[in-house]
Amino acid sequence: MGTPAEDCIEFLERICWGGTPQCPYCQSTNSTAIRQERRYHCNTCFNSYSVMVGTLFHGSKVPLAKWFRAIHLYLDKDLKIKSLSTRDLASRINVNKNTAASMLKRIRSSLESDKRLLKAILSKRLEDSDGTE
Ligand SMILES: [Zn+2]
Repeated sequence: MGTPAEDCIEFLERICWGGTPQCPYCQSTNSTAIRQERRYHCNTCFNSYSVMVGTLFHGSKVPLAKWFRAIHLYLDKDLKIKSLSTRDLASRINVNKNTAASMLKRIRSSLESDKRLLKAILSKRLEDSDGTE
């Protein structure tokens, strides 16, 4: 097991790709790993990508472990929204209020577009790194 960050990204790769990286731009599975960044270079269309492209995490500076925790705090196992204010989330995962608000917005829009991913994350037992929960 690696760090919590590696653990989260491995988990995402497993649920999104089932072990074989697939280019989100051309769907090719012919790729070369860029190890230190946990990204992949597509040998078909020459883009590089990570498993986060096309997910709610794409382009976010918030570490995945905090995202996973936010999803657990905000949704129950049936993807029902729990009562969690922006302020609560911000203090529970230690981000500022604007960040927390935009995270909740992304999670809510994923309830429409990416249920499978959210369900998988909710079924993951989180490493209790910071003692919240
Ligand atoms: Zn490609």
